[in-house]
Order: sequence, then C-alpha cells, then structure tokens
Amino acid sequence: MQTTQADKIFDWAYAPAPEATDHVHINKKYDLFIDGKFVKPGKGKYTNTISPSTEQLLAQVAEADEKDVDKAVKAAKSAYDKTWKKMPGKEKAKYIFRIARMIQERAREFSVIETMNGGKPIRESRDIDIPLAANHFFYYAGWADKLDYAFPNRKPQPVGVAGQIIPWNFPLLMAAWKIAPALATGNTVVLKPAETTPLTALKLAEIIQESGLPDGVVNIITGAGQTGAALVNHSLINKVAFTGSTEVGKVIQKALAGSNKKLSLELGGKGAHIVFEDAPIDQAVEGIVNGIFFNQGHVCCAGSRLFVQESIADKLIDKLKDRMSSLIVGDPLDKNTDIGAIHSKEQLDKINQYLSVGKKEGAEMYQPSCIIPKKGFYCKPTLFLNASQSHRIVQEEIFGPVLAVQTFRTIEEVIEKANNAPYGLSAGVWTDKGSRIFNLTSQLKAGVVWANTYNKFDPASPFGGYKESGFGREGGLHGLMPYLNL
Ligand code: NAP
Ligand code: MG
Repeated sequence: MQTTQADKIFDWAYAPAPEATDHVHINKKYDLFIDGKFVKPGKGKYTNTISPSTEQLLAQVAEADEKDVDKAVKAAKSAYDKTWKKMPGKEKAKYIFRIARMIQERAREFSVIETMNGGKPIRESRDIDIPLAANHFFYYAGWADKLDYAFPNRKPQPVGVAGQIIPWNFPLLMAAWKIAPALATGNTVVLKPAETTPLTALKLAEIIQESGLPDGVVNIITGAGQTGAALVNHSLINKVAFTGSTEVGKVIQKALAGSNKKLSLELGGKGAHIVFEDAPIDQAVEGIVNGIFFNQGHVCCAGSRLFVQESIADKLIDKLKDRMSSLIVGDPLDKNTDIGAIHSKEQLDKINQYLSVGKKEGAEMYQPSCIIPKKGFYCKPTLFLNASQSHRIVQEEIFGPVLAVQTFRTIEEVIEKANNAPYGLSAGVWTDKGSRIFNLTSQLKAGVVWANTYNKFDPASPFGGYKESGFGREGGLHGLMPYLNL
C-alpha cells in the first residue's frame, strides 16, 4: 500500500471509506417549484452551484426575479384560501407525515447531496441533518390536529402566507424547521434556500410534488439576496421567517417596520463553553471538538469561545491539542472525515482574514500539522490561546473551525465574560455540580444552555436567541407560535 502524508505524521491512517455517489441523481438544471410544478424563471437566468470540496459544477439553478416571486406568493395565497386553510388538521397531518416518511426513505440520497453541495462530512449529514429534518416533519405532523390542545381557550388561527429564507449551513434541516411548523398550523409557504446550497431543498420539492400535497401549499424558489428581499417585501406575505446573518436580519427588520407582517429572526452566535475544574475533562474535550470543529464551525450555535478554569487550563489545552491532532480534515464524502470543506471561497477568505486578525491582536495561534487537500476549500482546526475579551476573534462571529480560549478564576468572572458579547444564542456548561449548572443556566444570556454536552437537538425542544442572535423560537410547542394568531 502506498504511504500517504498522513501516515508519515501518525504512523498510521484509516483507509479511505468514500460514500458512493452513483445512487444519486442530480439534474443538470433546476427550475422554480411554483404551484406544484417546476417552471422556468421568467428571465431565463440560471446560476451555477458547485461542490466546495472539489470545486466541480453540480447543477445550474434558476434565479427568481420579482415577477417569479410574485407568481410563487400568489400561488401560496390561492392555495391558502382555496384548500389549506379549510382542510381539517388531521388531513393536513397525513401529508406532513407522508413527507417525513419520504425523506426517511430517501435519506441516503439526501445525505450525499447535502455533503456534495455544502461540504459537510457525510457522517454529519447522514447522522444529524437528514434524520433531524425528517423528525421535524414527524413532530409537527403530530401537532396539526391538536392545536386547540396546545393553546387551550385561545382559538389558534393560521397567519396566512409565510415567506421563509434560510442559510447554507443546514440546508435541508433549516427547510424542515421552517416548512413543518408552518404547514401544521395551516399556513402556506414560499421558501428561498441559500443561493449556494439549493439542491436538497429542490429534492424536497420533488418529494412534496410526489406526496400529493395540494399545489401551491409549498413553493420553493431559488435565487440570491434580491430574491429574498423581493419575497420579504411582497404585500401578500403575512409572516417572514429568516435564518441567516445578523446583518441581513437587521435589513429585513427595517424593511418590515410599520407593516403588520409577523417576523422571526434566527441570527448569528458566539457560543461559550465554560469548563470548571470539577468537569469530566475528556468528555468536555469531546464536546468542545464537536461544538466547533465538526461541521467546520458552520453552526450558528457553535461553541467558538472557551472559558476554562485556570487550575485545569494546561491539562485541558494539552488534551485538546492532542485530540485536534487526530482530527481528519478532507473529503467530506469519506466516512472517516471529521472536518469537511468550508462552504465557499468567500467564507474561507473570511476565516483566513480572522486568523490574521487574531495573530495581530496578540493571541497565540495553534493548528495541528494535518494535511489538507489542494483542491476545494479547507481550513485546519485552529485554537487561539491567551485571547482576551476585547479581541475581535472573541467578539465577532467567524463561522469557521476557530476556537478562542480564555481562562477564569471565579464564577462571577466567567458569567460576566461569557455574557459580554453582542450575541446570545448558546452556551455549554461543564461541571460535576447540578447546583452550579442551574445557577449558570439562569444567569447566562443564551437561548440554549447545554450541560455536560453540546449541540444536541430535538424537534420537541425550542431553539432561538437573545440580543443580536434574534427573536422567536423554532422547535417544540414554542415553534408553533410564530405561525399562529392566538
Ligand atoms: P445571509 O447572508 O444572511 O443569508 C441568509 C439567507 O438570506 C440566504 O438565503 C440569502 O441569500 C438571503 N439574503 C441575503 N440578503 C438578503 C436580503 N437583503 N433580503 C432577504 N434575504 C436575503 O447568511 P449566510 O451567510 O447565508 O449564513 C450564515 C449566517 O447565518 C451566520 O451568521 C449564522 O450564524 C447564521 N445562522 C443562524 C442560525 C440560527 O438558527 N440562529 C442558523 C444558521 C445560520 P444568498 O444565498 O443569496 O446569500
Ligand atoms: Mg449570504
């Protein structure tokens, strides 16, 4: 067997275990999914969507302009008035359950496409993204005929047509988070996936078509920022649900000010891990690695700041470096891969800029000596030691596999430091003491606080942020509210 570069470093390496792609069908060209049919965009414009791990062209995808958006919104409005609003909850549930089952049946195909288009390791799309997406449809299907029990004495009514805009980091999962609760509460939908990762949403459109869901109940239109803006500003939209950057979230909030459209925003984050001296250290190291390095740090709730109690700092950092040196960066379709491709060239440039900023600010950078592929967009897992509160790498969202490390002595100090960020989405507390966990969960300004674990999701559990991380909750009973007039 040939010796690879990885062998030279580790003395051993896993043999490649690539996931097959021959069972997957990707069209050369995708049209817009409007009123139950795939239709050509009015201006006939298409953009390329590529694989960030190989830089190869995967497909051409339609670009919806204002007129196409108008068509989609009108289709959703008509489906709302004519069918969906009137259909009993238990009938709606049958369609939503069917979509959930069809995602499950085609889970392998979805996982491979998610990994090809977005660059995330197949292990993540196979074990997390796709099963969770199906679970969201299952969970909300269950609510469709029980809304009166969810909100007793409050006569829950659908809002109307929802305009939904999602980012590139969890393409199918975010589509499920948006579509499933909207349908279960009796709304119809126009969804716009991110320009760079539209393929699984378009596969979902195929499933929706096959499921027999009445035409126009779900419309999926592709395009860039302008398409999203046209959707948000359309007069027949009653509710906007947006997940993405804080910057665009603010633009949308301004655009909707004074209108009577309902709005929920799921924006950026700067999650903090807090590790106390009595924490299970190996478990914490695994949680930290999972929280920032898996999925390339492309997670809004990524644990991108680490606060470790001074007495165990050296030990924890040694273990963390050790673990980092065993992480495999490379082909996301390989089942051994821990860290796949950065989602785009622009995102990689942004991360690299932050690496220079961190060094200039005086933090000490550490990267393991792993080898990264020459083609495609890749970044080594990176630690910044001796970071300080005022550093940009501590305050700003990098959205890459970069962890800023600080130490603390007392609980008061770490609460203040962890809360001193513009975001408030997530935190992880690592300690043996239950009382300390409860103390911190009530004092940390974060929408989700995990205890002795990280990045765990369940459709029954609400998710959302404070401060510049947005407002409104997705998941659970709370996730029904943004789609209802109560
Ligand atoms: P983004 O640039 O804000 O894009 C999000 C979506 O909005 C995309 O579909 C985008 O289209 C569209 N868009 C862009 N400009 C718009 C406008 N003026 N009006 C309406 N829509 C517009 O964010 P991103 O770079 O794709 O994603 C990364 C960000 O999302 C990070 O900040 C991350 O923290 C955040 N995020 C948050 C959560 C959460 O639940 N809190 C989850 C995932 C991601 P294009 O594709 O053309 O850009
Ligand atoms: Mg963008």
